[in-house]
Amino acid sequence: MSVAGVAVSPDHFIGGKRVASDARFEDRSPIDEQVLAEVARGGAREVELAVEAACAAFPDWAALGVAVRAEHLRRLADLIDANVDRIAAVECLDMAMLERSLRARVIPRGARNFRTYAELAESYRERIWDSNGTSNRVVRMPAGAVGVITPWNAPFMLSTWKTAPALAAGCTVVLKPPEWAPLSCSLLADLTEEASIPPGVFNVVQGIGEEAGAALVANGRIRRVSFTGSSETGKLVATSAAGNLVPFTAELGGKGPLVVFADADLDAAAQKAALQYDDSGQNCMAGTRLLVEESAAGEFLERFHRAVDAHVLGDPREEATTISPLIHRDHLERVEGFVDRARANGDRIVRGGRVAEIGGLWYEPTLVEPRSNDSEIVQHEVFGPVLTFQTFSTEDEGVGLANSTRYGLAATVYTSSAERAERVGRSIRAGTVWVNCFLVRDLTAPFGGIGISGIGREGGDYALDFYSDLKTLQIREDSTR
Ligand code: NAD
Repeated sequence: MSVAGVAVSPDHFIGGKRVASDARFEDRSPIDEQVLAEVARGGAREVELAVEAACAAFPDWAALGVAVRAEHLRRLADLIDANVDRIAAVECLDMAMLERSLRARVIPRGARNFRTYAELAESYRERIWDSNGTSNRVVRMPAGAVGVITPWNAPFMLSTWKTAPALAAGCTVVLKPPEWAPLSCSLLADLTEEASIPPGVFNVVQGIGEEAGAALVANGRIRRVSFTGSSETGKLVATSAAGNLVPFTAELGGKGPLVVFADADLDAAAQKAALQYDDSGQNCMAGTRLLVEESAAGEFLERFHRAVDAHVLGDPREEATTISPLIHRDHLERVEGFVDRARANGDRIVRGGRVAEIGGLWYEPTLVEPRSNDSEIVQHEVFGPVLTFQTFSTEDEGVGLANSTRYGLAATVYTSSAERAERVGRSIRAGTVWVNCFLVRDLTAPFGGIGISGIGREGGDYALDFYSDLKTLQIREDSTR
């Protein structure tokens, strides 16, 4: 099958082979809603085959040692780099992120993920110390076959973000890609084969969340579950993983604040605020709640509206486009539902608030001034091009609003005061706080959420520890003592 001129298999990848299913599901492009592929619809049977393959491949992969595994991962990173344009073209048609962002930033990050984890795994030094007449060391043992489940808003990048530390740690992987954008993960499988990663070390089972995803989490032989998706699904995954006492990480939804103090560079803050509509707001880390100090609100809004006016809704493959369509008609209707309920609730729609004139799956960049901080539009993740606007008059009030939802994934703050940056940065409850910047990521730093934004941390050594069983090894050389 060919998508954007690139050969893509719609089948599973199990034990190094393509495996079909009798059942299939339709994968449509958000750009024109046309069917791109009829993808294999896996269930318990395919998951069982993949887990069997991953378990069979595990002892040899674990025994290979860190240095040889790192060589494989670097080869895979080189192959991703060599195929950026092909992967970006497929991903763009499949989930409609701007093609130029995919080429420049998002797909190359996949290669960076593998290189970073090759290096981190190699540079790990066991902690060694003497006590009670014994030498002690902390040994990382690879956990086994692990299950990885990813969402549609960055399927290739997020799959590599989870797979890289798992493979580097010596685990084998069964990946369940998102059903609304399953194709780039199929390309990743091809590249693992080209990188000579042994059969069974990396497997892909395509399918629907409630079928293949649920079967993967429930499988008793999976030793870890790494999940990224919505908070609602996260609860189901947590419950199911708990049934097998299997450790899991859950990277979930966000409702990040973007807090602007009057002493900030208002041009930069307003530009960044307008940027939150990128990818049609389908970014878990987005600062979707604009919280602006009262005295600067007018000046900020003027700049913000000017920046939003400059946005161009259109085909994500075109250079001029800055806002692409939403992923799926169901999701568009979900976004519409939030705004309609806000309107009915008496929240003020300041701009947008309807499906865009160009039709299709585009929704206008929307700003809502809520009637109260309790409004649904403030308290729940929309995951669309919808921001809220509120003001505050003291620093404490600003921080209070920032911390007033059950989410806590990421937050952004604009201020020119170094003291305030430190104070507010420490007071905001979120896994990541950016001050005077946004989306700047160091892959060795911990990443994750507080509250209903997640459990556990990815990134750096945190992920390598997650995919390992830590063992304390105590040796007394002289057994007569
Ligand atoms: P989702 O929860 O609907 O689906 C995510 C994945 O889980 C998909 O692969 C889906 O097939 C699978 N799934 C669904 N039901 C399942 C079940 N019962 N058991 C096992 N797997 C199941 O999320 P989505 O709509 O694909 O993605 C959007 C959400 O992801 C947003 O809430 C967004 O904030 C979040 N997200 C979080 C991060 C992060 O790092 N925290 C990153 C990206 C997206």
